[in-house]
Amino acid sequence: MGGGAVVVGGGLAGTLAVAALLGHVETVTVIERDRYPEQPVFRKGVPQGRHLHVFLSGGQRALEKLLPGTVAELEAAGARRMEAPRDVLTRTPHGWHRRLHEGRHAVINCTRPLLDATVRTQVLARAAESGTRVEVLQAWEAVGLLGGADRVTGVRVRSRDAGHAERELPAELVVDASGRGSRAPRWLTELGRPAPREEVIDAGVGYSTQMLRPAEPLRTAVVLEPRPALPRGAAWSPVEGGNRLLTLAGVRGHHPPTDGSAVPDFVASLDEPYLLDHLGTCEAVSPPYAYRDTANRRRDYHAPGGVPEGFVAVSDAACTFNPIYGQGMSVAVLSGLALRECLTDGGPRRPGFAAAAQRAVARASETAWLTAAGADRPYSEGADATSPRTAERLQTWYFGRLAARATHDPTVGAAFRDVTHLAAPPSRLLTPTVALRTILLPRRPGPASIPLRVEGAAG
Ligand SMILES: Cc1cc2nc3c(=O)[nH]c(=O)nc-3n(C[C@H](O)[C@H](O)[C@H](O)COP(=O)(O)OP(=O)(O)OC[C@H]3O[C@@H](n4cnc5c(N)ncnc54)[C@H](O)[C@@H]3O)c2cc1C
Repeated sequence: MGGGAVVVGGGLAGTLAVAALLGHVETVTVIERDRYPEQPVFRKGVPQGRHLHVFLSGGQRALEKLLPGTVAELEAAGARRMEAPRDVLTRTPHGWHRRLHEGRHAVINCTRPLLDATVRTQVLARAAESGTRVEVLQAWEAVGLLGGADRVTGVRVRSRDAGHAERELPAELVVDASGRGSRAPRWLTELGRPAPREEVIDAGVGYSTQMLRPAEPLRTAVVLEPRPALPRGAAWSPVEGGNRLLTLAGVRGHHPPTDGSAVPDFVASLDEPYLLDHLGTCEAVSPPYAYRDTANRRRDYHAPGGVPEGFVAVSDAACTFNPIYGQGMSVAVLSGLALRECLTDGGPRRPGFAAAAQRAVARASETAWLTAAGADRPYSEGADATSPRTAERLQTWYFGRLAARATHDPTVGAAFRDVTHLAAPPSRLLTPTVALRTILLPRRPGPASIPLRVEGAAG
């Protein structure tokens, strides 16, 4: 067993990193800037926590491997399971998805604080039974790394309480799970290393989310995807406690309002009376909250020489996605699983462990990156946007056709969902049956109006 590990950030990815480390190191110290609230409620360290967080089936399957029984715990705590496409009514730029009972994928919907608290409880319970001692330093923040250019040997931490005491925590392995705002690139330069290069693809999406209580419980979620002619969208989804989250999204000049009185006008502009009618039956539980930093951003820690020994960055600290695709939490779980597999294969003392673990973590986010960055690249503006090459134009053409067919063709739709739920690699979209149907069959849109009945269901 390895010596001590420090995990920077006790959010979802940090908690899952602890799960991966159990049994592989003697101690894990988690540094968390916030104090955890007693109840599952919003906290400042996870500013996106007020927004709708859909947990994809690929993430759930990975969670069942890493922490068996946790998905059932989430449902027992009130999270709502919704089968896709049966219960998730989705309007795409190519029409509505047919409402089929496919039985392959379900999303879990609950508030982000409930999800984080449930996973944390599960991990701490397992920690108590493992040979690893886990300590969580709440209201402490990491402010730098210890070591040199070739090896990280620990973390400098500072208390957030009066006095702001500083300490040095030596560690054999430091896992950076401090999220989108990670300062590790700067800390690495302080050790004499270059900062990782960043690839940024920003479609300019702005979010606003409001919690509402409908007069009657509703069994379905509704998703309206932005389209070129109307770069605005919405997701309307049940969460625990009989509430719903309404997330509105808009691309550049179409950012949604943060003033509750302006929400109905924005929803009316989406041209979907079903959603507008339901909104009229709801009472507001919270005001709308905005979120603007939605760029896809990948740091090249996984490149040769990208990390020193003793340092691994996971989840949002390494790679973040436009949240509209609902992938980040699932990638956090897949990264935790990848980290555990690397630990099983030799432990953190193995020479080259950090680089191998970083590559494994990057592989765990590859499908999400290819789908999110690929879909957003045509809409990306600014210094990082480059004009598409022929191969990219071909890809855009193929995926445009495939996405249109997926709305109504059960074979292509199943493959499309396997990949967008992170349950299969993108190569699943290139299998002969899917490719032939996509290329040779006519491109036609899905249903023009909202499918209120499940196909094949009685009544
Ligand atoms: C608006 C929005 C909507 C989203 N919707 C979805 C969705 O539907 N489905 C989905 O799967 N994903 C979604 N995501 C992505 C998801 O929120 C992230 O991928 C996920 O939170 C990543 O987890 P993390 O632990 O890496 O980072 P975070 O959840 O951001 O946690 C980072 C933690 O590190 C702590 N921290 C930060 N710096 C320090 C420091 N220096 N010292 C100590 N502690 C520190 C913070 O307090 C926090 O606890 C969405 C994101 C956004 C922005």
